[in-house]
Amino acid sequence: MAYFVGIDVGGTTIKTAIAADDTDRLATHVVPTPQAKDGQTVTNAVLDSVKRVCEESGVRPEMITAAGIGSVGPLNRVAGTVTGPANISGENIQLVKPLAEKLDTEAVVLHNDAVCGVIAERHIAEVVPENMLYLTLSTGIGAGIVIDGHLIHGTGGNVGEIGHMTVDPAGTMACGCGRNGHWEAYCGGANIPRYAALLSRTESIDTALTLNDACTAKDVFQQAGSDALATLVVERVARWNTIGIANLIQAYAPASIAVGGAVARNHPKAVLEPVRDRLPKYVFGELPQLGLAACETDIVLTGALLAAQRCVDGSG
Ligand SMILES: [Zn+2]
Repeated sequence: MAYFVGIDVGGTTIKTAIAADDTDRLATHVVPTPQAKDGQTVTNAVLDSVKRVCEESGVRPEMITAAGIGSVGPLNRVAGTVTGPANISGENIQLVKPLAEKLDTEAVVLHNDAVCGVIAERHIAEVVPENMLYLTLSTGIGAGIVIDGHLIHGTGGNVGEIGHMTVDPAGTMACGCGRNGHWEAYCGGANIPRYAALLSRTESIDTALTLNDACTAKDVFQQAGSDALATLVVERVARWNTIGIANLIQAYAPASIAVGGAVARNHPKAVLEPVRDRLPKYVFGELPQLGLAACETDIVLTGALLAAQRCVDGSG
């Protein structure tokens, strides 16, 4: 029996699972991602999660064949680290080396989280074109990209950092990465209420939204249609999402784009329909299928487990 560990290092939580050959999970552990300046704190939380799933499943760490990690970026896949992430603290987070030491195996693979998303989606969806993207619209925005049947990574493993494409040359909104005008600065889940606060000042629109730190993207989407400011925000978010997605289509010519992430999952009609309506005005060429991903839950964790398996069977 071979055992595999999958880890999803997200902006909000770290999810870890252990599975046997058949990918049935023997144990899962979820912990809030620690917000500390020192990257070692996140590393320790990851190692502790692995210890917990090992204890719960009765599998000793040295019995693990391989581990897959899907993490927020930017990554240095050569060094096995996350360097200066936009949405979590920690300047330099070591992942691959400490995990390889703990499990006593070299078979530890690190991917951008959206890359794990596309691995899981291709495993689960009925239709998997040779050219497809998995797009996550969540706290951050990222993509897992398969071109001509090949998963692509780019330098450092960062080809999927598409949330940091500039969509607004005016650069009105600041991104978590410290730059301005990035797609994620307008359409990332945590930034949607900040964008609402900005539009309320610049457009002088009355609103029933309470624009403080407690306001969430969900509040904005729920009020759209009845509240003038919320309606405007959702319309502008659709505009920026359309520009970002149209640029991805021109760059990669995908046959399908499978969309996941909490912002899209929780509000698919308000997020995806206006983009579908607008794309023909932006895209030169064939439009891809654009819909929610078939893999509905724990897509990064599922992809991380699959990546661990493929790390030893040579298929990925
Ligand atoms: Zn950015």
